[in-house]
Amino acid sequence: MAGIYIHIPFCKHKCTYCDFTSFPDKLGFAEAYMACLYKEIEMRGKQLEKMTFDTVYFGGGTPSVVDPKYIYGAMNQIKKCFHLAKNPEITIEMNPGTVSEQKIATYKRAGINRFSIGLQTAIDSQLEELARIHTVRDYLYATSLLKGENFSADVMIGLKGQTKEDVRKTIEVAAGSGAKHISLYALTPEDGTPIYTDYLNGELPDADEVAEVYDYAYSLLKEKGYRRYEVSNFAKKGYESKHNLNYWKRGEYIGMGLSASSFCCGKRFTNTFNLDEYMKCLLSGFLPVIESEDVKKEDAKFEFIMLALRTVYGISATEYKKAFGTDWKEDFAKAYEKTRDYLSEDGDITRIKDEYLYVQNQILTEYMN
Ligand code: SF4
Repeated sequence: MAGIYIHIPFCKHKCTYCDFTSFPDKLGFAEAYMACLYKEIEMRGKQLEKMTFDTVYFGGGTPSVVDPKYIYGAMNQIKKCFHLAKNPEITIEMNPGTVSEQKIATYKRAGINRFSIGLQTAIDSQLEELARIHTVRDYLYATSLLKGENFSADVMIGLKGQTKEDVRKTIEVAAGSGAKHISLYALTPEDGTPIYTDYLNGELPDADEVAEVYDYAYSLLKEKGYRRYEVSNFAKKGYESKHNLNYWKRGEYIGMGLSASSFCCGKRFTNTFNLDEYMKCLLSGFLPVIESEDVKKEDAKFEFIMLALRTVYGISATEYKKAFGTDWKEDFAKAYEKTRDYLSEDGDITRIKDEYLYVQNQILTEYMN
């Protein structure tokens, strides 16, 4: 399996916790940016003409902030330059404050068949505090336009002053709106973002408090029929994100657009984060890659273990052997011995026990060592 990721780096406003490559003040560059992106799609398409891609994902930034004709154009270009599998999963991220009936109609005409909507919280005062541009009403309006569609809602925990009752309300709104998939993320206060000050001031819940809220949210989601398939991702049966599953299975993906990263042909590489440089490179006929490295076998083995343990599917000894020709329990003998109490075994599959999945980082540290 292989995926295509397209980065749209524009937003209406910067959220207080955001450290993604996104610009709230450069929407005027959208047309020029998209022209360069089309060029990059063409150049990469030529290089990867032998590959088949199963998923396409428009992320950002806010892909839904640009004129939908550009998304339509990008999809046309992808169809023209890449070989897509039959019935590919094609997702677009949408901010509820930027959605309209006409945009959704254009996305569907472009072949988009999955929508990922950032609800974050169903408490308006918390949305305001995060400087999100939408209200709960906007979310309900956006999802009313997506009745019967395959859509996912993003929910955040670890917010300032957020109670379990707030989380319950948020999950009820997300589930009640018809989301087939819910992503549950804990806020990460990144250095340099406005919310980092709240973190330094001790105003954000600590790790234990967040873990307790996560467990609570997990039980609510389970009750509502969402099955956890990765530490932060829950879906109704058959609605798991194929695009993300490909990442966790160490499948190949090509990222295009500003700051996009790729894992393809045994290499990991990243595009520039500088908008000017991105456009200049493509206008001069060069790919805007700033970093590229061959993935060493030892790193590949660790990646395999780390990614597999994030999911409920766990490590398949057979798959590991097929990929590397060795036994993972021998390659990671020390770490395996140390973490055995946290693991469950089922035939050739080893996974983290359900109750420890949220604290998997501590377990994975052993494998890193
Ligand atoms: S909408 Fe997303 S990408 Fe844009 S500023 Fe907010 S968090 Fe960042």
